[in-house]
Amino acid sequence: MSLATARGIARRRVRLFGIEIDAVRMDQVVAQILIWINEGSRPCRYVVTPNVDHVVLYQECDELRQAYSQASLVLADGAPVVAASRLIGRRLPERVAGSDLVPCLFHEAAWQRMPLRVYLLGAAPGVGQQAAERMAAIWPRMEVVGVSSPPLGFERDVELNRDLVAEINACQPDLLLIGLGAPKQELWAHGHYQELAVPVALCIGATIDFLAGHRPRAPRWMRRAGLEWFYRVIREPRRLARRYARDAWHFPRLVWRELQSQP
Ligand code: UDP
Repeated sequence: MSLATARGIARRRVRLFGIEIDAVRMDQVVAQILIWINEGSRPCRYVVTPNVDHVVLYQECDELRQAYSQASLVLADGAPVVAASRLIGRRLPERVAGSDLVPCLFHEAAWQRMPLRVYLLGAAPGVGQQAAERMAAIWPRMEVVGVSSPPLGFERDVELNRDLVAEINACQPDLLLIGLGAPKQELWAHGHYQELAVPVALCIGATIDFLAGHRPRAPRWMRRAGLEWFYRVIREPRRLARRYARDAWHFPRLVWRELQSQP
């Protein structure tokens, strides 16, 4: 029996590495988000998608912990996070990566003939527009009602953020995709969700780049084998090697700590 009900998902959360992660499948998440969009929920519900890097950041960043505490859904983005949940014995049903969730959501909305107004926040200048063009070709009922690539450091500029929120609200999107990388996107969502007149916001990392074809995703077999992180580090070693080296050092220790603390 599906856990998705008329009012939403019957909630089961699994506590891993200090994070309460929703134990849900992709189809349930898609159903839930479309319900929230149809309801026009307020304040804005935001969704975070922890991967290994977020799990490591979470241990040391109090602001990220606060942002997670107000998230409406916390989805296991990383294959190693799902694998660890099985090893530890607090099983998550499957990986629900932000970059898979977005196209699944668009496919389901198209299937239901539901028009969707989407705003893209983040990625380099021009990439959002490119993504909008490709999205319109694949999902003709969907309308990208606005794109914005705010400059580096924008999150500290109060006036700029006020204008940005006003511009997003004026576009009246159903869905806001926030692709600013972690933890910036989660902190931004947490800082502004109460002012946003948008039913749902998804913190989705590099998904706008993927939608634009600006960066390729790992081949399907690599994603299935839990090797997307490996593909990404090979493609962008200069940017990601340090991040992944830090994660490779800390994550096994976190898993070990969880195993040790088992009753
Ligand atoms: N980004 C941005 N503004 C910033 C920092 C990052 O728009 O101040 C974008 C960047 O262009 C990329 C995305 O955020 O599109 C983050 O990509 P990353 O690979 O770090 O995300 P991940 O999927 O690993 O969380």
